Formats: sequence, structure tokens, C-alpha cells
Amino acid sequence: QGGGSMAAGGAAAAEGSRGLALLGPVSGAPCCPHGPALLFVKTSQGKEEGRRFYACSACRDRKDCNFFQWEDEKVSEARLAAREEYNRSHQPSFTHRQNVERFKDFVLLPLPKRRFCQECQQLLLPAEWEKHLDHQFLRDISTAQLRSPSQLLCPLENKKTNAQYLFTDRSCQFLLDLIIDLGFRRVLSVGTPRLHEMIQSKASQEDFRVRSLLLDIDFRYSQFYTEDEFCHYNMFNHYFFGGEAACETCRKFLYEDNGERVIMITDPPFGGLVEALASSFKKLMAMWKETEKEGHNNQEMPTFWIFPYFFESRILEFFPSFSMMDYQVDYDNHALYKHGKTGRRQSPVRIFTNLTPSTIVLPVEEGYRFCAICQRYVSSGNQHCEICNSCTSKDGRRWKHCVLCKKCVKPSWSHCNNCNCCALQNHTCEKTDAGCFVCGKAGHKRSTCPSLSRT
Ligand code: SAH
Ligand code: ZN
Ligand code: ZN
Ligand code: ZN
Ligand code: ZN
Repeated sequence: QGGGSMAAGGAAAAEGSRGLALLGPVSGAPCCPHGPALLFVKTSQGKEEGRRFYACSACRDRKDCNFFQWEDEKVSEARLAAREEYNRSHQPSFTHRQNVERFKDFVLLPLPKRRFCQECQQLLLPAEWEKHLDHQFLRDISTAQLRSPSQLLCPLENKKTNAQYLFTDRSCQFLLDLIIDLGFRRVLSVGTPRLHEMIQSKASQEDFRVRSLLLDIDFRYSQFYTEDEFCHYNMFNHYFFGGEAACETCRKFLYEDNGERVIMITDPPFGGLVEALASSFKKLMAMWKETEKEGHNNQEMPTFWIFPYFFESRILEFFPSFSMMDYQVDYDNHALYKHGKTGRRQSPVRIFTNLTPSTIVLPVEEGYRFCAICQRYVSSGNQHCEICNSCTSKDGRRWKHCVLCKKCVKPSWSHCNNCNCCALQNHTCEKTDAGCFVCGKAGHKRSTCPSLSRT
């Protein structure tokens, strides 16, 4: 059974067991180096408890950003000034502009002079070599390597704050083909550097008309892309580190010149707060909407939100127009979810989209088939249930119908008369007091969360 470990980080801490509730991005919030902080409150049994406080939007781990302020706290002028100074000094040492200039110089160098410092994760110009002498570095950095920064940079691995899970070639190629088949010409890549890179790389090599703008918090990418290709962006508080100019770049990109249609594709960290993410995506959608006088006939900006299936009800809460596709997205550097020798591990990660499900064609050669009743492609194991009148499996395995629960459940479950619902055979009937991963309420676990069956 997949899922647990990959998402056991921030969301659980913030929305579940530790009982923290997000009260959202609020205007006038104090800033840390990652932009405006978010307002939280401790909860117990689903009720607010204690003082509200601001904490960093991007970092779950105090070690990465220890910003903290009570909502009603009086902050002295001196502390405000010190904080501003701190925020300034915690910005990257080179600006994006400087990095673009450095890149221009770098590509002019002959191969033997092209070095990449692995410790500093930085392209080095010859004048800088001295400072990195005792660092590990790669030499002879080729044009191909410069076109695939996600292969060159080592994926960030901080479990709590920013673990980067890169698409397998199979998943990335599938997404790109799908985008093209659907007729999109522009991709707003929010936290999808590998997809962005595939598009950029194709565009530089052949006659390829799709363009991409990457929005990501990982500033290392500014070494490889111009200001028109990359914006340093925080998707938990919709913060553009590059200020109004960067925001304007994004706005311009969303403006559909000569009918070039835009799609937003996002693959946020799974520990992320769904509510904060949804709020930022709504702002990006609003930005798109404002670019068109007619307001796009009340349409929503086409979107793929890539996220684990057990967040389905949470996502639909914020985006009722979305539906979940059966396609299993998998990743190169996640041990649990890549193709193994013994066949495929089932990935819990899916595509949520506001496009018409029947238009999202899934690869038949991987076993997906079209269900004429549900009007969507489903995985091979997903059987249409006559009683539910839908293809009910969420995890790709064949689910079975429970007449008592009046719904389909996982194959490994059976009905428990104590708990009055289906559960694993060896479950303990006592209610747990740790909060549920999905809704944060006590009394049940994620797997039996009532909000999950609400669709
Ligand atoms: N599968 C994607 C990568 C997803 S990993 C691909 O292969 O392209 C999550 C991505 O979100 C990473 O690129 C990470 O840098 C980015 N990210 C993490 N926290 C973020 C934040 N607060 N704001 C914006 N991007 C963030
Ligand atoms: Zn170095
Ligand atoms: Zn069906
Ligand atoms: Zn059923
Ligand atoms: Zn049951």
C-alpha cells in the first residue's frame, strides 16, 4: 500500500496529529526570508485553542526557517529593523540578473573551463575556481548538461521542507504529449522543473512551438534560465521574490497572444498545506482571467494539479470543478514509487484537472482503458461497480463493494461490526486519539476518514 511515507511530513504535522490549523494567508502578515508568513492556530478536537501565530509559509522545519510571531505580539521598531536586515541578508548571494550574465559568460567558455561546484551547486567562472579549490566539482559541463539542470543539480532532500521528486522520463513525456494533444502552447510550470526543462530543451533543438515558464522556490534554477523563463516563486503564499517585475513576467506569459492557450501544471511538495496551495493557485488563475477582457467566458484556467489520491476530497473542497485521473505519475528518485525489477510499484500520485475527463487520454499500452459509462480512462484493475455505478478504485487495485458501507472499499478490507465500517482485518477497534491525516479530527485514521468518501 503506497502513500504513507511520502506524505507523512508537513501536512500531517500541520493539519493532523499535532493539531495545527492554517488560518490562511492574511494581508499585512509579517515577512520572513520566504515572503509573508502564514497564520496558524493550535487545535484540539477540531477546535481552536490558544494564541494564533505566524510561521514561515515554506518551511515546516524550524531548522530551515525559525520565523515565529504571535498574532497579537507587539514588535519593537528595533526588532523590525533587525528582521528586515536579516531577510535581506538571507537572500541568495547572486541576483537572478547576475546569474543570467554569468551564464552568458559560462557558455562562451571552452569545455575544459566549464566547471560546476557540487558543494555550492553553482556554475563556476574561472576567476572563481580558487575559492572552490577544496570543493568537489564536475568538469567539462556540456551544452546538453546545461539544458538538463535537474540532472546536474542534486535534488533537495529535506523531508520536511522541500523534497524534490523528479518525474521519470515516462511520466514527463506522457504529460508533455498530453499537453500537445490537447492543443496547449504555453505551460505555466509551477514546481515542475523537469517538465519545464523538457519543453525548453525541445524548443532549443527543433521546431517546437510550446513554451514554458517555471515558477519554483529553488533559486538554483536561476543559473540556467532567463527572467522570462524562470521566476523565483513561493507557491504557499503566492510570493514573487523578484517583486512586481517578476509578477509582470508571469502575467504577460498568461496573456494568450494569437490564441496560444495556456495550461498550469503543478506538482507541489506533498507535505504541503492544501489550503495554502489552493489559495495561491486561485490567485494564478485570477491573474490569467484578468488578462482577458471577456473573462474567458467564465472558464477556469486549465490546470493539472499532481498530488496523491488520498488528498482527493481536500482538493475537491477547494476546486469542485476538478476530477482525479487514474494515471499513476512516477518519480526517478523516490525509492518507493519507481519501476522495480519485480514490476511496477503502484504510485499514489495522480493528476487532478478541471479539463473534461474524457479528453485526458491515458496510454492503452500501459493498461488504461476507456470506461464508456464513466466517460473517462481508468486503470486496468479499476472495475466498474454496478451498484456505485462508477469505477471506484482509487489506488489502481480492484476494489470490492460492501453492501453495509454502501460503497466500494479496498480489497484488503472487510466489514467490522464494532467500528461499523470496513477496515483492515487486523485493525484495532479502539478509536485513536491522534488526529486524522486528512481532516485533522480525532477518532479515526486517514484510511477511514469520512471526508474521503464524500465525492
Ligand atoms: N515532479 C516535478 C518536481 C516536483 S518536486 C518535476 O520533475 O519537475 C516539488 C517542486 O516544488 C520542486 O521543484 C521544489 O523546488 C518546488 N517547491 C517546493 N516548495 C516550494 C514552494 N514553497 N514554492 C514553490 N516551489 C516549491
Ligand atoms: Zn564550491
Ligand atoms: Zn466506469
Ligand atoms: Zn461499489
Ligand atoms: Zn463495510
